[in-house]
Amino acid sequence: MTPPPESRAPLPPDTPSRLVIVGGVAGGMSCAARARRLNDNAEIIVLERGEHVSFANCGLPYYVGGEIEHREALLVQTPQRLEESLNLDVRTHHDVTGLDPESRTVTVETPDGTIEINYDALVLSPGATAATPPLPELDSPRVHTLRTVPDAVTLREIAEDARSAVVLGAGFIGVETAEVLAHRAITTTLVEYGPQVLPPLDSEHAWLVSGELRRLGVDVRTDTAALRVLAGEGSDTVELSDGSSLDADLIVLATGVRPDTGVFEAAGVACERGAIVTDEHGRTSLPQVWAVGDATISTDPVTGARRPVALAGPANRAGRQVADDIMRPGTARALPSPAGTAIVRVGALTAAMTGANRRALIDAGIDARTLHLHPNQHAGYFPGAEQVHLSLHIDPADGRIFGAQAVGADGVDKRIDVLATAIRAGLHVDDLIDLDLAYAPPYGQAKDPVNLAGMLGANVLDGTVTLWYADDLVDPDEVRQSSLVLDVRTADEIATGMVPGALHIPHTELRGRLDEVRDETAGRPVRVMCASGVRSALAHRILAQAGFDSATLSGGMLTLRATLGDKAGELLQAPADPTPRNRYTAPSRKDEHHDDH
Ligand code: FAD
Repeated sequence: MTPPPESRAPLPPDTPSRLVIVGGVAGGMSCAARARRLNDNAEIIVLERGEHVSFANCGLPYYVGGEIEHREALLVQTPQRLEESLNLDVRTHHDVTGLDPESRTVTVETPDGTIEINYDALVLSPGATAATPPLPELDSPRVHTLRTVPDAVTLREIAEDARSAVVLGAGFIGVETAEVLAHRAITTTLVEYGPQVLPPLDSEHAWLVSGELRRLGVDVRTDTAALRVLAGEGSDTVELSDGSSLDADLIVLATGVRPDTGVFEAAGVACERGAIVTDEHGRTSLPQVWAVGDATISTDPVTGARRPVALAGPANRAGRQVADDIMRPGTARALPSPAGTAIVRVGALTAAMTGANRRALIDAGIDARTLHLHPNQHAGYFPGAEQVHLSLHIDPADGRIFGAQAVGADGVDKRIDVLATAIRAGLHVDDLIDLDLAYAPPYGQAKDPVNLAGMLGANVLDGTVTLWYADDLVDPDEVRQSSLVLDVRTADEIATGMVPGALHIPHTELRGRLDEVRDETAGRPVRVMCASGVRSALAHRILAQAGFDSATLSGGMLTLRATLGDKAGELLQAPADPTPRNRYTAPSRKDEHHDDH
């Protein structure tokens, strides 16, 4: 007889009859809902320390900014609705303060006193707490974190009358908060201890984000630490390591998060740097205890680094899969290690990333090549075309995709999601050529930016294209001595700034001026550059076929400027005397965008 499908098979006899879940938001509530769908008989108790369950943490900044108008919109579910629809026993203001694995009991502080609850299965989804920097006077009523609905309500109330704000920490929450405060016309300073905003972004992308924040009116201070907060009458003062002081009606601490696991680690749940260690099914070191979400640590699928990933998607998915492991052991899918796919809106820009970034690859000692492209998000001739500043890190040996990042005004989410899917599916960069992506002029290109990345990657892998990098110009004298920099942009373009000492020959004239290049190289390799990397790749192919040792600048001047950041002005100079023969018309869109790799 054919066995019944899993969905109709009886649950195993040892299926837990009481499931207790700690934490009633992303991971915890996903787990509860799935467990109920699999097992209508189990008692499912959700214990939540706070006032709300199943609230939209990710929407909190937008409530502070006023885009989400009503607080109720953040409350996706209520205990009452969860009881009615899913028969869940959801208890708010229930703080789990102890765990005894021997008796399988949790100790809970409730509004009516301390109680103990037994479990057959226990799922820990306590999330993380906002890490606070060790600064004096952080207890000022103007200093706040943003993690809960009450936090957001308080911040919005203060923001309604605030004229100035300081946000400490330029991670995702700090940047989102600075953006919405600036949107409320509050004079906002974003202070970041590290060298750039959004640390997971590679620096060339982060620089674009800083520029957009500045355009919104946010004063971005990187490489700067807050030293102390001085509580004042009318406003507080934040003293910074650059010697300046900022008056602030509102101070938001967004200096990172810490797994909220103290109770469970003390009870013997194995932790690594404060985060709960689990196996591929979310099982902890204690029998019948699972853990998911921000409180757990996972292994980076590319670099092997151990790190918590504090993102909603992995927490929600893990909650569901852990419910499967509890109710249908043996058939549950293993939890994949999260790739860290993330996205953030910053004014008119979107920044997104998936997989490993440059720093993580360097730290892990992984050899990578980076591809930079700046294609339009949709057909250049269709109104509203905008460049997607896209980069991929790949394995130069076999084209495995380690990670991808993008910044742009439109189409960034689609490309990063396609690339996240490709990475998850184990595709290599040249496989991207074959992706059959939806196209019509308002939506994409016949060769989508992701296809173009595949073409460029395939060219790099097989040696058709050799890249050089903006980072090589950190020591421009070294580059100029060891090679000839050849700028193939038009004269009008180089008038906006070029690498000093570079030879300028527009790419359309190159075939007829190869002798000139040969004379200038004096045996050195040629390092070609243009605006975005398209024309220099053409020039590179001409040179390579003519026998030159040549390479094309990855991402061209756009990536060079973004890499140099605020220092671009020091290096790039307008040519003193552009020769008349080098005068040429501006590039057409065709030159820059229709040519592929
Ligand atoms: P949480 O959803 O934080 O839930 C943990 C719950 O457990 C909390 O409500 C807490 O009160 C409760 N709890 C803790 N300890 C106990 C205890 N001992 N007893 C009882 N209850 C306890 N992620 C994204 O992917 N995209 C975004 O845009 C995004 N934006 C964000 C914006 C903000 C302002 C914040 C704060 C987070 C954002 N995140 C975002 C992160 C995302 O919300 C988290 O990764 C996700 O909620 C983690 O789920 P979790 O179940 O592990 O923890």
